[in-house]
Amino acid sequence: MQQYRYVRWFFLALGLVAVLGLTGMNVYSLYALHENKVQNYVENQKQQMLEYTNQVRTRFRYPVRHLWQLDMEQVKSSLQSPEMVCKNLTAIVDEAVQDGLFSEIYLSTADCEACDHFGAPLWKYHASEGRFSETTNYNQLVSDGLGITQTRMNALIQDYRWSTRVIFDTQNSMTVALINSANKEIVGYLLFVIDRDYLVNSYMAPKLVDTFGRGSESGIIIWLHDWTKNEVLATTHPDAPYSYQNVDFIQNFPDLLNDWNLKAAFTANPDIAASRASLTRNLAVLAGAMILLLGAFAFMFLIAQRERSLAQRQSLFLANVTHELKTPLSVILAAGENLSDGRVTDVNRLKSYGSHIYNESLRLGHMIDRLLDVAKSDNHNAGLQKKETDLVPFLRNYLEKKHDYLESHDVNVHLQTDEPVPDILVDQSDLHSILDNLIDNAIKYSPKGKKIELRIYRTDQLVSLEVSDYGIGIPKEFHKLIFNKFFRVEDALTAHTKGHGLGLSIVKDLVTRNGGEIAVESTKGKGSAFTVKFSSVHVFGNGNTDSQKKSKQQETEHASK
Ligand code: ADP
Repeated sequence: MQQYRYVRWFFLALGLVAVLGLTGMNVYSLYALHENKVQNYVENQKQQMLEYTNQVRTRFRYPVRHLWQLDMEQVKSSLQSPEMVCKNLTAIVDEAVQDGLFSEIYLSTADCEACDHFGAPLWKYHASEGRFSETTNYNQLVSDGLGITQTRMNALIQDYRWSTRVIFDTQNSMTVALINSANKEIVGYLLFVIDRDYLVNSYMAPKLVDTFGRGSESGIIIWLHDWTKNEVLATTHPDAPYSYQNVDFIQNFPDLLNDWNLKAAFTANPDIAASRASLTRNLAVLAGAMILLLGAFAFMFLIAQRERSLAQRQSLFLANVTHELKTPLSVILAAGENLSDGRVTDVNRLKSYGSHIYNESLRLGHMIDRLLDVAKSDNHNAGLQKKETDLVPFLRNYLEKKHDYLESHDVNVHLQTDEPVPDILVDQSDLHSILDNLIDNAIKYSPKGKKIELRIYRTDQLVSLEVSDYGIGIPKEFHKLIFNKFFRVEDALTAHTKGHGLGLSIVKDLVTRNGGEIAVESTKGKGSAFTVKFSSVHVFGNGNTDSQKKSKQQETEHASK
């Protein structure tokens, strides 16, 4: 059986480990799911930022999207003078100038002089007249060595597969090289001066809000930032001040607006926040379940331990009882044997054998009674025969019967009843056992010759029977435990007293099965009082049959000695 117990615990532990493992996996997958969601969200936002920069780039090309369809031979031959610029090119430039994005548009031939020195003539487009005319009065940025020069360089470095090549001078201008891809020749340059106010306030800022939402609820804050001047040009959340520490991701504009970039801070997106809350909730539930599981396991372990120790005590009890039964039996046997063979004729010896047999039979009977009590208390309500009982005559009768026993144990028993008490409904044999056990304990745990008091009194509808002694007493911390099966107060005073810790548990069971209650009051070294309470059968008061039945009783009875 022993080895099976270990197998049982092994499987239980295995089950617990399996549940723990499963729960751990669950938590991990929930966490991974959440992380994945966060990752996806961040990736998605990064894609959106890239997409935004591409759209800005497309926006610049849109007004000049027809340039690549031009016949560059025709364009080249028309670039003799501003008045001769071909209609197709003029029409495209005219459409572009209507677009708010460009404030001025200039045209230059391939051998652009303005590239080399500021102030050399350029052809400026006049929207009101619908034509180009030569001018030397233009903004520095048109010929600051970056615009057309850079475009010429780039167009030369790159191949000539395309009929246009677009280069940006940061956020100031856009230069388009017109290329004749047939003979790989640049025929001229168009220079568009960018209207910064339109670009930022009318296009990029509203588009930022359109794409990423306003405020922090969207889960992201975007700043359009001029990193050269550390200046925020536009933002999706004007209340959130820009700080480099808050930036989680930076997206540059591909080959345009070099001084600017998009900076992003990821905030609590409602979706992510909901997922985090659900993760936290799940974790809390799982933790709760784990605690319950571990608690149940620990509880089962404790119960098993208790059962084991109870079983051990039970077998010890059986062994002791058998031994205790054998002792008086062997005395009786020996005395009986000596008497039966007729050799003993001496009167004194005969008397001594007789008293041995008598006393040991009494002891044996007493022990059998205790054993029967155990069986009775284990059987709960089986064989319960309740009877209306008047405690006073019952107790007198009991003490009379016990006279010899009490005398042999050298105790003074006082019965005291303050007033007539009503009848109670009890099984009298149970009441007998209750008294036996309580009085036995009072005898066992008091010095010889000490007084034991029995008191019967009533409070309201309850009749109480109190058994008090002036013995060793019980420390307060054990008051609740002494009613448990096999519990004994293990100290120097009880060490010399025989017992199995069953008496009080039997008393409690018997009292309970008769509908009563038991309580203890005790002080170490001073004595103990056990009170058993039962409800009275009738309502008791003046004029009641009970009161008529009983005359006022007030007596102190000396039961022995
Ligand atoms: P047992 O007396 O066989 O040990 P009980 O169940 O009758 O078992 O009592 C349990 C414990 O309560 C005893 O071991 C003892 O320590 C304590 N006890 C019971 N009655 C008394 C008493 N009248 N005075 C002091 N201690 C008592």
